[in-house]
Amino acid sequence: MKTGKINVQTENIFPIIKKFLYSDHEIFLRELVSNAVDATQKLNALAKIGEYKGEVGETAIEILVDKKKKTISIKDKGLGMTGEEVEQYINEVAFSGAEEFVNKYKDKTDVNNIIGHFGLGFYSSFMVSSKVEIITKSYKEGKAVRWECDGSPDYQLEEHKRKERGTDIILHIADDSDEFLEPARIQTLLTKYCKFLPVEIKFEDKIINNTHPAWTKAPASLTDEDYKNFYKELYPYSFEEPLFHIHLNVDYPFNLTGILYFPRIKQRIEVQKDKIQLYSRQVFITDSVENIVPDFLMLLRGVLDSPDIPLNVSRSYLQSDANVKKISSHITKKVADKLEELFKKDRKDFESKWEDIKVFIEYGMLSDEKFNERAQKFALFKTTDNILYTLEEYAEKIKPLQTDKEKRLIYLYTTNITEQHSYIETAKSRGYEVLVLDTPIDSHFINFIETKLENASFVRVDADTIDKLIKKEESQPSKLSEQQQNTFKPIVEKVIPKEKFTVVFESLSEKDSPILITQPEFMRRMKDMSAMGGGGGMGFMGTPPDMYNLVVNSNHPLISKIIAESDSGKQEQLTKQAADLALLSQNLLKGEELTKFIKRSIELIE
Ligand code: ADP
Ligand code: MG
Repeated sequence: MKTGKINVQTENIFPIIKKFLYSDHEIFLRELVSNAVDATQKLNALAKIGEYKGEVGETAIEILVDKKKKTISIKDKGLGMTGEEVEQYINEVAFSGAEEFVNKYKDKTDVNNIIGHFGLGFYSSFMVSSKVEIITKSYKEGKAVRWECDGSPDYQLEEHKRKERGTDIILHIADDSDEFLEPARIQTLLTKYCKFLPVEIKFEDKIINNTHPAWTKAPASLTDEDYKNFYKELYPYSFEEPLFHIHLNVDYPFNLTGILYFPRIKQRIEVQKDKIQLYSRQVFITDSVENIVPDFLMLLRGVLDSPDIPLNVSRSYLQSDANVKKISSHITKKVADKLEELFKKDRKDFESKWEDIKVFIEYGMLSDEKFNERAQKFALFKTTDNILYTLEEYAEKIKPLQTDKEKRLIYLYTTNITEQHSYIETAKSRGYEVLVLDTPIDSHFINFIETKLENASFVRVDADTIDKLIKKEESQPSKLSEQQQNTFKPIVEKVIPKEKFTVVFESLSEKDSPILITQPEFMRRMKDMSAMGGGGGMGFMGTPPDMYNLVVNSNHPLISKIIAESDSGKQEQLTKQAADLALLSQNLLKGEELTKFIKRSIELIE
């Protein structure tokens, strides 16, 4: 057997780094400014422990664009590099000086604010440059040096006359990247990536960043006003104010800080432009946080900052990263904690915000079992009288009246208060309480909740006649004989489309309508599901037809009167009129049939 080392040629690997390390060329600026920030923070750390005895002085990092010379310069007053350090840190690709520094000083001082990690960031400058120069002077004794490289593995290193401590990185921008010579473009990039960096960044004589953003401060030191102002700082083009916020601050078992805001969520979820922003040690990484926070939390706004989320890695890596998974479930827990706290502390206030957070909470309950368990305590259900109950409270409230003879608890609901008005009124006249479940997500939500309940079902108010929705004792006797029903049935069937309506007789109360239209709960749910493309594998059956029951109230005096009518033309006219009234109350009478109904009504009045 033979063992050996694979020989990696720098000539071959360099173009690969250039091309594939980062998909986005613009991040070169983020990398170089981060290095400048690191250099400054390292100097501060050295000054603190007395290893650097000179004056630190003013340390703003400056970005200069020279359109004529086609250069971008990043200038810092940090710790600088000696010639040997340049050879080690810059010429050795993937040797991170940042990591080395952290390992060396972590026991002596706080080095948590150093950004670098992989020792690859600097090379991103070659994605946009035909040549890169470094002019640097270390805080240590010795001459300054100038390094130059055109992107091939060959470089030059020489002494330089520079006297001041610090580093200038000068990028000679390649022709295919001249978009970066537009000051407006640089301004945009700085605002995107560097807005909250911890060292002052100067561009065109202005400081562009806030070095102490709210999420880095102690929650106790911030007022509600501070949080609102920070929201505006994050989303300068947003007109809305957030409903409330959560300040995250964890340091074990992972590091995570941040502020999440609850916005008002519209019924229709829009394409969201103000998204959660992800930072790593105050450096912006991304605002597509799909793999880091659970889907339902993407409706929130704000910032997350975790040094444990690596800067330069791919999405697929993020997805499988253990830290990322922990962060995700931690955030879910914190959000549930906050909602529960708000609910307990001031229920009235919580209720006043309910409409704005309802979609978010229902979506969360549907998609995350742990969140669902927590949300049982604060998820609310609104009745047609605008009373808000938790599911438990509602069940307790309806127990005496809405338990059927099989001891099943019946949750009544409406999907449209105006269209189902007469059915709601009938239910209320029995003392029943009807829930309003009228958003698109609600139909999923009903199915979901029902599977978690024992001995209970959800039934829409118009799914059947009221006495059949909640079956109590045996129904009252019918005033019509079977023979009377049999003769009247074909008369009714003549005036309505037979393929759509099934005529049934029921002995309802005299006070109920003479004729009613109902649609069985299972029928409607099947239709709803196939309309949404789901249907639990029933999609192949196509959309089921609309089928209704036409219920004739055999105890209603009007029905007896129609049956007694000897003029068969008049009898048909009255039957049609009564059936049309029923259709009308369900909003099912339309077009020509509606026109005819109005004409007939006028004739009958005359
Ligand atoms: P990383 O930042 O991950 O360590 P980089 O490729 O970005 O890797 O940088 C390599 C090293 O070069 C840094 O760790 C640092 O030691 C050195 N370096 C880069 N830029 C500067 C700078 N502006 N001032 C001082 N040292 C720098
Ligand atoms: Mg770096």
